[in-house]
Amino acid sequence: MIGPGSTIGILGGGQLGRMTALAAAELGFSCHVFAPEPDSPAFAVARFTRARYDDENALDAFAASVDVVTVEFENIPVAALERLSRTRPVRPGPSVLAIAQDRLAEKRFLSEHGFPVTPFFAVRSAREAVEAARAAGGRAVLKTRRWGYDGRGQRVIASAAEAQAAFEALGGGELVLEAFVPFEREISVITARRSDGARASYPPVENRHERHILKTTTAPAPVSEALAREAVALAEAIAERLGVVGLLAVEMFVAPGDRLLVNELAPRPHNSGHWTQDACAVSQFQQLVRAICDLPLGDARPFAAAVMENLLGEEVERWPQLLAEPGARLHLYGKREVRPGRKMGHVTRLRWDVPLGFTR
Ligand code: AMP
Repeated sequence: MIGPGSTIGILGGGQLGRMTALAAAELGFSCHVFAPEPDSPAFAVARFTRARYDDENALDAFAASVDVVTVEFENIPVAALERLSRTRPVRPGPSVLAIAQDRLAEKRFLSEHGFPVTPFFAVRSAREAVEAARAAGGRAVLKTRRWGYDGRGQRVIASAAEAQAAFEALGGGELVLEAFVPFEREISVITARRSDGARASYPPVENRHERHILKTTTAPAPVSEALAREAVALAEAIAERLGVVGLLAVEMFVAPGDRLLVNELAPRPHNSGHWTQDACAVSQFQQLVRAICDLPLGDARPFAAAVMENLLGEEVERWPQLLAEPGARLHLYGKREVRPGRKMGHVTRLRWDVPLGFTR
């Protein structure tokens, strides 16, 4: 067990690292953040090292200063995670991150272990893109294998005839083509898992995107109890199979007929879990600390329904009204530069009028 008073190393300096460090401080832990970007939001609330992920001296000094290492961003180079794991527990481990960094490896892992995914195809040329689109039935999504997020690195195509242009628009290289899912809604489940296999899961939530960026999360998701149970069981089974220690966010599509298909995995705190800060006794961030330190996991049942709204770009300028709004719980990330679509903060509103439904 890694107890209060210990130091948690966090790779990545974004808002997820910032909120993890704040939650760790509430339990008496210190954090040391490692990130290359000068204006990292997490630097303002913890000790930090600003260095590249391939700076071995900086990595070694960082390892020597912490008791356990976690990540707030899944694209940390695996070599850095492996180096740190020689001397410190890295949770989740390098093999989990290696899968989550590569959409093709992730889809293969899921399908090989019998988890439901939309049909997918590896694509390395325009010709393969066209063939894959035909095999997928025409309507499809072409995605880069790596570094895709918030809709970057993907193109929706209506038919195989558009596959070549989409391949070229993405700059070619190694891609994945997925059959388009005519989903009814998008949901996600965040599950926490300790090294001894103990687990705790938040109820499924519904996510709505605007221009491919998460705009609102509604918790719990308005789905049947049976579907909610199935979604939680699916997320827990994936975390177990992957051997995640920490958090795993599982994004899923609800396809017609209440069929669940896994879209994406994120082995870290997730934007769709921010509502837990204000509607649960233990937030996803504190739950991460508990999971990686082998502490008792907290109760993941919400005490109220909630809607979380992201403040994107200039929407952050609404902060004075939001501060004045009764019941609105505002969280700002301290980012100085406002850019269109940039996640600047979020606001959570509790919904006492909405029944909680299935929450375990
Ligand atoms: P991703 O980056 O894979 O999470 O995709 C971003 C968003 O694109 C998802 O949240 C969906 O709204 C949409 N999307 C991704 N893949 C598919 C798919 N196979 N079928 C339909 N929509 C998709």
